[in-house]
Amino acid sequence: MLKFETVIDLNDHLEKLRKEGFKIGFIPTMGALHKGHLSLINRAKEDNLISVCSIFVNPTQFNNPDDLKNYPRTLEADIKLLESVNCDVLFFPSVQEIYPHPVKTYFNFGRLETVMEGAFRKGHFNGMATVVNRLFEIVKPDFAYFGEKDFQQLTIVKMLVKMQALPIKIIGCETLREEGGLAMSSRNIHLSPQEREDALIISQTLFKAKELFKAMPIEELKDWAIKNLTKNPAIELEYFEIADADTLQPLIINIRNQESNIRAFIALKIGKTRLIDNMEIF
Ligand code: AMP
Repeated sequence: MLKFETVIDLNDHLEKLRKEGFKIGFIPTMGALHKGHLSLINRAKEDNLISVCSIFVNPTQFNNPDDLKNYPRTLEADIKLLESVNCDVLFFPSVQEIYPHPVKTYFNFGRLETVMEGAFRKGHFNGMATVVNRLFEIVKPDFAYFGEKDFQQLTIVKMLVKMQALPIKIIGCETLREEGGLAMSSRNIHLSPQEREDALIISQTLFKAKELFKAMPIEELKDWAIKNLTKNPAIELEYFEIADADTLQPLIINIRNQESNIRAFIALKIGKTRLIDNMEIF
């Protein structure tokens, strides 16, 4: 695996590959890698692309300075994991390299960014889109891979590509889960054994919601899910939402004959750790 810290060096290398006819598959991450991230690299490799992974903890998408400070950073282990799946290129730039000038980009994603994560993490999606846009400008990938684990992010990145008319195909990839169902996440490192146990309620609620959705009115289902998630006082629920998979707008009544899918979304805190997850339920 080739490793680059600067835009110039990365560009030189990728330009040569492009001239030889190779296509580029890009996987942006914030590091503290796990099998979920590796599944995205594997997808790019299966698609016969040069896999370029970036590791950059983006300060502009954190609305809480402590969250940024405590975000896990495990570069040595990340490099080993990337080598284990034969990732072709790692780009791990400094903040100065990504933002040589103060960033003032403002994107308007309309109603996609006013719900769920957008409502609870003010400015998060603008910061995320700013860095993804900058990374797209640097890497100029043909394809970019994002996890459904961050479904709202995936939807907004698709919108970003449309708005900027970028020639990049965005591929959404399934969420990888631990054996008990907990969605893999860099933040799981912070969970104590008890908290990890408590966190199982998230995926259990999603799987059960999928089952109940067929027969139960949405309001009743939401009441049930909220009660189920909050019966443990160690859990601080931010939201449980049932929304249209395309528009991300909350569903009020069960509409089963619509074109798009329906997903359930959860965000909560266990101790100091904030976890999110979602699942297609219809
Ligand atoms: P992050 O490092 O958390 O910013 O994630 C980088 C990419 O990996 C994003 O596209 C995430 O959606 C994706 N990702 C994170 N966790 C998982 C998972 N458990 N399964 C699949 N993809 C994931």
